[in-house]
Amino acid sequence: MSLFENTLKQIEKAAKIMSLEPEIKSILEVPQREIEVSLPVRMDDGSLKIFKGFRVQHNNACGPYKGGFRYHQQVDKEEVKALSAWMTIKCSVVGIPLGGAKGGVIVDPKLLSEGELEKLTRKYVQLTAANIGPAIDVPAPDVNTNPKMMDWFADEYSKIQGKDMKGVVTGKTLAAGGSKGRGEATAQGGCYVLHEYATSIGMEPSKTRVVIQGFGNAGAIAAKLLAADGYEIVGTSDSKGGIVCTHGIDPAGLLACKVEKGSVVDCGVHVSELKGMDGSTCKKVTNEELLETECDILVLAALENQVTAENADKIKAKMILELANGPVTPEADEILAKKGVVVVPDILANAGGVTVSYFEMLQNADNKYWEEDDVKAKLKDIMVKAWQEVKANADKYKCILREAAFITALARIAAKIKEKKLI
Ligand code: NAD
Repeated sequence: MSLFENTLKQIEKAAKIMSLEPEIKSILEVPQREIEVSLPVRMDDGSLKIFKGFRVQHNNACGPYKGGFRYHQQVDKEEVKALSAWMTIKCSVVGIPLGGAKGGVIVDPKLLSEGELEKLTRKYVQLTAANIGPAIDVPAPDVNTNPKMMDWFADEYSKIQGKDMKGVVTGKTLAAGGSKGRGEATAQGGCYVLHEYATSIGMEPSKTRVVIQGFGNAGAIAAKLLAADGYEIVGTSDSKGGIVCTHGIDPAGLLACKVEKGSVVDCGVHVSELKGMDGSTCKKVTNEELLETECDILVLAALENQVTAENADKIKAKMILELANGPVTPEADEILAKKGVVVVPDILANAGGVTVSYFEMLQNADNKYWEEDDVKAKLKDIMVKAWQEVKANADKYKCILREAAFITALARIAAKIKEKKLI
């Protein structure tokens, strides 16, 4: 099943539970616009390479399209369509006035020099410029794209328009108009929701063991924030494999070791390699074993389709926090629900990133910049309110949190479609 078919299945399930009007559902089953571009780039060796890129604008009933763009050799349009639909839903779950879009270019960025990446990014802007803009569609970083590329993006679009238009893109560096707190926002938002859930069931951080799949931007920051709240991090992984440390992991020490050795897999296996863990050792595990490790909370912060019908039954965590997009398949959702494993879904758990991107849009429009504490306080308000609404719908409709999050979002989008007389 393609990722987009998964998304349609999720919409279908929620629509049935809440009795959504079929016409509204049919609107959300197809993106409003699918843009495909060919991007010619002069390479450093003088040859010309043509890259294929996409921008899918799923729905803008709630506001301008919003969503990142990624550079990856396996990007395909079905994946971009799914991610664009999740953006529509995600923005609506947290109640920010934005729609959903996503973009991508088929490229392995590791094979390009910085100069080639800059040319590729600027070409992507030139060929999509007619359909983007601060009030139309605002891209952002995603897999393998970063603040520096967003700065190139804003610069190229401003040149095309002949004026400063930095609000065309978010996730920029602070110097180019980015927001404080954007780097930590995804993990921070997820931690706010996790805290609400943990408090509601009387979970004590000091007695709660956490495993984190993926020690990248979202995962490593989640480890840092959860450890600071008193949770015990007992395992983590990256693309090369994982480690499980029954005495707990010091995230700062692990990050330093990962930077030095290139992967978490070689860290902590020897005594006192991780700062603050004197005398403890860790054991190496495969990624499959990591997911099946004994723990209370499993944070998924790597890739899509990680917990599937094949391994869902072997998951021992009591709760899963989805910081990645689509890490649990619909089949796995059903198995986990039967086992009583609570899944806090991606469209709620990782919405902190787009929420702070929205804050960046507001700051750019006002040309007034907020302090980090202010960003965090506003993010917390939004995430806690969204959690409460989703939880209330889960109780009302007696459904799992993913269905409740979809219901929360679909109700808001349906109301906007009617209010704006879009049909
Ligand atoms: P990243 O590239 O910084 O980190 C990904 C991590 O996952 C890396 O440590 C990588 O080595 C690891 N990984 C890759 N394959 C793996 C595998 N098979 N098993 C275990 N680990 C593996 O990316 P990120 O920004 O942290 O994003 C992670 C996920 O979170 C993605 O699904 C992304 O779409 C989602 N997300 C991120 C943000 C954000 O603001 N960073 C926002 C919303 C959603």
